[in-house]
Amino acid sequence: MTPQNPVMRICISCRKTYDRKNLLKITKDYNQGLMFQKGMGRSAYICKSKKCYSDSKIKKKLQKALKTFLEPEFIEIFEKEITSYNDYPNKGI
Ligand SMILES: [Zn+2]
Repeated sequence: MTPQNPVMRICISCRKTYDRKNLLKITKDYNQGLMFQKGMGRSAYICKSKKCYSDSKIKKKLQKALKTFLEPEFIEIFEKEITSYNDYPNKGI
């Protein structure tokens, strides 16, 4: 089996490039609003480094990347999402 080329995306916080599988994708879906790891629309990627998701400027960066206003509640959900996502060992199935 030939391994597929990973899809590389840039973390909006540290601006480093990562394999998409190792990033949390936040999408402003056309119909359903903000979603994690799915949805169609403008997306932002963020790596799982604590430095990035707990950055005090992360909300501003996300708002800019998604061109939307984010409620304070969103940041709470986002932090829960990315920390729970962190618990899974990064090995795939
Ligand atoms: Zn990062």
